[in-house]
Amino acid sequence: EAKRNPERGLVAFSAVIAQATQDARTIEQGLRQALLRGGEISIVYQPIVGRDGRLARAEALARWTSPTLGVLPPDRFIAVAEQAGLIVELGRHLFGLICDDLEAHPDLRVAINVSPLQLRAPDFVSSFVGELQKRRIDPSRIEIELTETVVVDDSHLAADRLRELRDAGFSTALDDFGTGYSSIGYLRQMNFHVLKIDRSFAAQIASSPQATAMMRSLIELAHGLYLKVVCEGVESAEDLALVRRLGCDLAQGYYLDKPMPMDAFAERWLSQDIADVAAG
Ligand code: C2E
Ligand code: MG
Ligand code: MG
Ligand code: MG
Repeated sequence: EAKRNPERGLVAFSAVIAQATQDARTIEQGLRQALLRGGEISIVYQPIVGRDGRLARAEALARWTSPTLGVLPPDRFIAVAEQAGLIVELGRHLFGLICDDLEAHPDLRVAINVSPLQLRAPDFVSSFVGELQKRRIDPSRIEIELTETVVVDDSHLAADRLRELRDAGFSTALDDFGTGYSSIGYLRQMNFHVLKIDRSFAAQIASSPQATAMMRSLIELAHGLYLKVVCEGVESAEDLALVRRLGCDLAQGYYLDKPMPMDAFAERWLSQDIADVAAG
């Protein structure tokens, strides 16, 4: 079709771009309102469990319920917030919500996603630390997850910030490892506490010996660098058994539990000693 009528293809393409621009504008305006009004943005939590099946911490994931657009996953609004210059404000808002939950649940430990643009703000670490001091929350309860873009964009800045975060008492994790320009060299230089292996690996290990070999090697490499390893995207009992056999320290994925609001999370994961699915 495109070959026979290239102009038509071009029209269709610009229509797609126009629609995307329009969507971004709608989302941006909605986000500005949401930040002013409060209440529409919330956090859901997904368990990260150790080899004994017990909860290690919860990953905090942003959700936005727009009055006009409905529930939006972060993939729909984080990038827009970044482009619109709203990510620092949004990040601060999200951090406030997470701190509310940390205050309410003394046993809760969390992993938080931070955008490269947030990290770039000179007062990034001190603003987080200030908020925690005000509320008497220990930074050791928080792990900061960064993606490799941070490291690739500006490795000097990343190294500085990682040192600041460590010195302030936070744990640090490299998220989605194995998807982008992951350089093994950075892993050694950067001094993260934790490596999170992207869920595309877990998605393949049950069927692909090559994926299994890569996962095994990544875990071994990480352990050689004294990093703990989280395997993301564990969706079945088979996945869980496999990643454990490969030496993975911690697991996360729909098989263990989906992300959920704090009320449900506290009931399922924070109250009793849990004889959960992962214990078997
Ligand atoms: P991420 O940090 O890699 O988070 C894991 C994503 O995988 C989450 O998607 C989670 O719901 C999903 N997931 C968990 N287990 C499974 C599984 O077994 N199978 C599959 N297919 N997916 C699974 P979510 O919540 O849509 O978040 C997407 C991304 O948005 C996150 O990826 C993170 O990069 C970003 N994000 C989320 N919350 C925030 C935030 O508060 N701030 C920033 N800057 N980024 C955020
Ligand atoms: Mg993450
Ligand atoms: Mg991830
Ligand atoms: Mg991701």
